[in-house]
Amino acid sequence: LLYNQVQDLKGTIRVYCRVRPFLSGQSNGQSTVDYIGDNGNVMIANPLKQGKDARRVFSFNKVFGTNVTQQDIYADTQQLIRSVLDGYNVCIFAYGQTGSGKTYTMSGPDLTTEQTWGVNYRALRDLFHISKARMDVIEYEVGVQMIEIYNEQVRDLLVSDGSNRRYPYIRNNSQLNGLNVPDASLVPVKCTQDVLDLMKIGQRNRAVGATALNVRSSRSHSILTVHVRGKELVSGSILKGCLHLVDLAGSERVDKSEAVGERLKEAQHINRGHAKTLMFVHINPEVDALGETISTLKFAERVA
Ligand code: ADP
Ligand code: MG
Repeated sequence: LLYNQVQDLKGTIRVYCRVRPFLSGQSNGQSTVDYIGDNGNVMIANPLKQGKDARRVFSFNKVFGTNVTQQDIYADTQQLIRSVLDGYNVCIFAYGQTGSGKTYTMSGPDLTTEQTWGVNYRALRDLFHISKARMDVIEYEVGVQMIEIYNEQVRDLLVSDGSNRRYPYIRNNSQLNGLNVPDASLVPVKCTQDVLDLMKIGQRNRAVGATALNVRSSRSHSILTVHVRGKELVSGSILKGCLHLVDLAGSERVDKSEAVGERLKEAQHINRGHAKTLMFVHINPEVDALGETISTLKFAERVA
């Protein structure tokens, strides 16, 4: 993410901050999160130091503490999902250093337990619910793409043979509203189960060829894109919406020269009057992470 590119988006991005709990075995850890206000403020402090230089307050649209559920995190997103079905482009992305909880927020820890499902699954589930409720008025078609961007290379995660086909760049395809990867599989889906099945293929393909998946996932962006096409039954008019669900590379890894900012900007610009973006910025509360936490939050605060 380039700073000046992000500045262009100022005011169009809502930023929510989430603090991940200490993991088991770290329960005696001292937290750098001093307090969380109701008004979107969070105070970060070095618990080993005294004085006002050791504290700093950051402001976001909302801050979630360690006691929230996956449903709490998702709650406000439902409105954005409705927007997708109304023909908006929506981008939801997870930012934060490696180990801060990005994948937990977007995917959840475990596909098999519905209670811990992340934003991705809840969003898709609502998308189908809302589209079914509108069935008498609008007929929707939904298609999904899953890609990984690693070393500036785009990899299609829905290639079922795991052959690691590579595509040089993301281009605009006027056929579809929003960012589209030409040639990356666009798979039609009818229900949440179809999506779950695809996610499993995606996760499997992501693991293929990656000797150390953790190292890889800290350096790669993974993007789930949902294309929606609705036909109004009375008028016959067509609307197109798009949802990008992005699990970014670790913020400590996002090099200034990386193209992600450009991509997100592209996604926004395609239909600027019809774009909405939500960023979840993640905090690891451990003292060792303090430096990275502060630079991550400084960056995120500029966007809010
Ligand atoms: P990232 O994707 O940012 O590298 P992960 O989502 O993989 O981080 O989270 C790192 C570890 O912390 C994982 O073991 C994950 O299950 C755990 N974790 C992250 N967020 C939470 C949370 N809100 N509640 C419980 N465990 C969490
Ligand atoms: Mg991750």
